[in-house]
This record gives sequence, C-alpha cells and structure tokens, in this order.
Amino acid sequence: MKVSRRFFLTAGAATATVFASQFITSCSDQQPTPTNSPASTGNNPQPSATGEINIYSSRHYNTDAELYSNFTKETGFKVNLIEGKDDELIERIKSEGANSPADLLITVDAGRLWRADQAGIFVPVTSQIITDKIPENLRHPEGKWFGFTKRARVLMYNKDKVNPDQLSTYEDLTDPKWKGKIIVRSSSNIYNQSLVASLIAVHGEKETEDWVKGLVANFARSPEGGDTDQILGVASGAGDIALANTYYLARLAKSDKPSEKEIFNKVKAFFPNQSDRGTHINISGGGLIKNAPNPEGAIKFLEYLTSDTAQTFFAQGNNEYPVGAGIPVDSIVAGFGPFKDDTTNVALYGENNAKAVEIMDRAGWV
Ligand code: FE
Repeated sequence: MKVSRRFFLTAGAATATVFASQFITSCSDQQPTPTNSPASTGNNPQPSATGEINIYSSRHYNTDAELYSNFTKETGFKVNLIEGKDDELIERIKSEGANSPADLLITVDAGRLWRADQAGIFVPVTSQIITDKIPENLRHPEGKWFGFTKRARVLMYNKDKVNPDQLSTYEDLTDPKWKGKIIVRSSSNIYNQSLVASLIAVHGEKETEDWVKGLVANFARSPEGGDTDQILGVASGAGDIALANTYYLARLAKSDKPSEKEIFNKVKAFFPNQSDRGTHINISGGGLIKNAPNPEGAIKFLEYLTSDTAQTFFAQGNNEYPVGAGIPVDSIVAGFGPFKDDTTNVALYGENNAKAVEIMDRAGWV
C-alpha cells in the first residue's frame, strides 16, 4: 500500500528525529514505499515564497534529515522534502510542468540524471563554488546536474573460492575461466546500463558488444534480484563473482542480523582496472528544476552540498564516497581500501545509454 505523506523539515530537532526513525533504507534496491507517491493527489505543496525550498528526492537516509536540518540552521531556508522512486519523480516533475513546486531533484546514477535532463526538467546552474568543488567528470558539462557522492561498482568475490590474484579487470570477466561463475542483476538496472555505457566510451560499440556477449556466456544464472542479492548469491555459492556497488557490502557489514554480518565475512570487494583506467564510478546527484519557484534557495542548497559538513553527511548516509577532497569516508568503507577511479565523464553514461541497452538486449542479458 502506498502512503501519501509529506514531511516538512525544519531546524527543529524533534521533526528531524521523527524523520530519522522512519527512513533508514536504501536506494534502488529494496525501495521503501514512497512517502508521497507520484500517483497521489490532493496534497501537493504549493509554490512557496522565498524562505523555503522543495526538494524531490529518491534518497531515504537518516543522515539526510540532519543535512536538511543543518542547511535550515545555516541559511534560514526551510526544506520541504517530497520523496518517491527515482523515475517516478522525474515523471511527476514533467507532468506538473510549469506549475511544479519542485526546486530540486536529487537522485542516483548519471544515466538517470541524463534521462531527467532529456525530459527537459533541468536548467543550467552557474556557480563557482560548485565547479570549484566538484570534479569536471562528475557533473553535466553545462551545469544541468552535479554529482555529490561517488559510488564504485566493483567485483564482489567469494573468499573461499576465488584467489584475488586471479582478478584484474571488467574486461577479464569474459575469460572462459569464469564460465558459470558470474552473477549480476538485470540489464533493466541503470547501474549495469551505465557500466556498459562506460565501456562503450572506452572501447567503442563493437568491442563492448563482444564483451557483453562474453559476460553473458559466463553467467551462473539468469539475472535476478538487486545488488544485495548478488552479494548474497556469492556468499551462498550461486556464483563466485558478482558486480555490485560497494555500499551494499558496507550495509551488510553494519547489519544487526548475524546472518548478514556472516555474509560480509565471506565476500570481499575487488576494485578492478587498477593498472589502467580505474574502477567504474557513478554518482548520486541533483539539479535545479527549470520552473523552480525558489531558485535562490535551491542553488544555495546545491552549493551547501559541496561543503565539508554536508559531504560527510551525504556520503555517510549511504556509505558512499564524498566528491570533495580530504573528506573522511566511513570506517567500513575505508576498510575496502584506497583505489583509483575511472575518470570517464559520467555524462557519457547518459549519452551512450540507448546504445548500451540495445547491446545488452542483443547479447541476451535479460
Ligand atoms: Fe543503490
């Protein structure tokens, strides 16, 4: 059942606490029930006067509540949070059109942010503060969206079955030695689409198609479940190696359930391509909505997200990596070790998305 509910966060700690106790969940995998579904009507926030901002977000983490609360304390702008699923929020803003109360969209994956831009909902932002803090490869070339955290898509392997000396690159996953050993989620998942899109940027379409065919030939099972399910599959022996984002492993490590902690003890993250371009990086990010009723406050919020304090909250909310230099990562995440990023411009994940989907379809990645 969908619940229609909207939270108005203020600097008041009590409000933030109520929020925090209800939303400690994930993105994309295991989506929570939207707190205000796009299908709901009758409680849309009205375009507000200066002093408020309306954030449409698919992030649902307790530290995000603290982030909003701190922003209000620092700037005086009250934050109205409207939560929902990623693609539904884009559709909602699009259908609300010129009357949309949305000032900002916060979501995950550069491929999806690109899709949101294709829907015509963003307007470019020019801000020296933002461009100084966010590396060029993690933002839209015209400032239509920005990455505020990084997520690494890595190889997760079973420590009892795989010697890490055997692992090297994404490209190596097509080697016949991995036949019947690789598990991944569906090609409908934007994370995998963006990974394939990044390979198109590096190798071109033909070579990437050969790679996808080789990967599919090594699948241990038909794709099913989310990233967490792939890690569970590696632990239970359904496959030896999975592709998954690191924060899913960190989440298992922090679980209160002994069975999930045990999975963390069986599975290890391997950062591929350290001898060449680096490990595939994606982002959690956002942009200013074209018809934003409160652009001044909204831009302030985007700038605030680049601050050291906000970077810490934002990244640690989901065990991700901050984009700002010198910001500490969570201790479990730090335990995965340092690594080299692939600095391919994430905007290319969007540009190459349609080709990636076609290639995955042709190769039989269901
Ligand atoms: Fe995710």
